[in-house]
Amino acid sequence: MHTPLKSILTHSFNSDKAEGDGAPVHEAYLDRSLAHGESVLDVLDSEIDSQDVWDDRQRPGSGSQVILSFDVEEHFRIEAAAGLKLAPGLKAACRERLAPSTRWILDQLEAHDQKATFFILGQIAQLDPTLVRDIHEAGHEVASHGWDHRRVLELNPASFREDVRKSKDALEQVIGEAVVGYRAPTFSIVRRTDWALDVLAELGMLYDSSIYPVRHDRYGVPRAPRSPFLARGRERQILELPPATLRLGGVNAPIGGGGYFRLLPLFLMEWGLAQIRRDVRPAVAMLYFHPWEFDPGQPRLPLQRASRFRTYVGISRSQARLVSLLSRYRFARAVDVACRLDRQKYELSGYSVAE
Ligand SMILES: [Zn+2]
Repeated sequence: MHTPLKSILTHSFNSDKAEGDGAPVHEAYLDRSLAHGESVLDVLDSEIDSQDVWDDRQRPGSGSQVILSFDVEEHFRIEAAAGLKLAPGLKAACRERLAPSTRWILDQLEAHDQKATFFILGQIAQLDPTLVRDIHEAGHEVASHGWDHRRVLELNPASFREDVRKSKDALEQVIGEAVVGYRAPTFSIVRRTDWALDVLAELGMLYDSSIYPVRHDRYGVPRAPRSPFLARGRERQILELPPATLRLGGVNAPIGGGGYFRLLPLFLMEWGLAQIRRDVRPAVAMLYFHPWEFDPGQPRLPLQRASRFRTYVGISRSQARLVSLLSRYRFARAVDVACRLDRQKYELSGYSVAE
């Protein structure tokens, strides 16, 4: 169990050696951990947690911002469960867990006096308007995650427009305010769905957060910029806030959320944040999570073995990890960062997604 993990991590750290970023120290952590039979993840977490060098609160004026976001959807919407026939009882059980797990997040945010952006399905606005209203009234941003989690890849420009418009309307009716941000299910704005950017701009969206600058079998635009840019569709452009990546050995690792957050040490996510703060402009990083990731007691979906591992690994420690992040970083809402960047549009680079 430890050996493959060590090879993954050591490989990553070796790749970074060329940049002289202290790789030998990290290898020493791994060796110490393996020698004592401790969990590699625990050792790295404890070592990093004790280093205040990662504390953004102690670095006012650094000009960097980290956006915290949550995609609000029932657990059965995950890509790994697409195509599975799920029993109605299981779906209902997932649905019941959504509000409590989202409210747990709201409580943590309140306890740490932090604000975040919630990308919410239009269907949730219909099923549980109280939850959406409470998110809004707590001062968080309500943004759109589409109507029912159909990926953009399954839609055409007309049906995509309808999907976004319907979800935007449903959310706006509940909160009584304009919804200006969008994130596609499973980051499904890619080269061949570049027309979606035109549609979002036409619908009056201020920003999009659907382009993951990574190479992945299901999503990603590997050469897209790692920090905010103007994403060009076919005729229009829109401000893009991409999820955070860690650049290692010439490749972008998707450390902004998901399995990376649950499986690998928190250190890798924080390394990515530090690298973005240091290396890219504008120095803005986007993190993303889902309520189900913080609910260890949720019903398990009948997934294939590999998907099962990827989906549920580390779920028991993710609550503590989020609390740790909340206590050490000062987070921002996407809309606030987008408004600031919108005023300095001329400083942003443009990138044509179809190229
Ligand atoms: Zn989603």
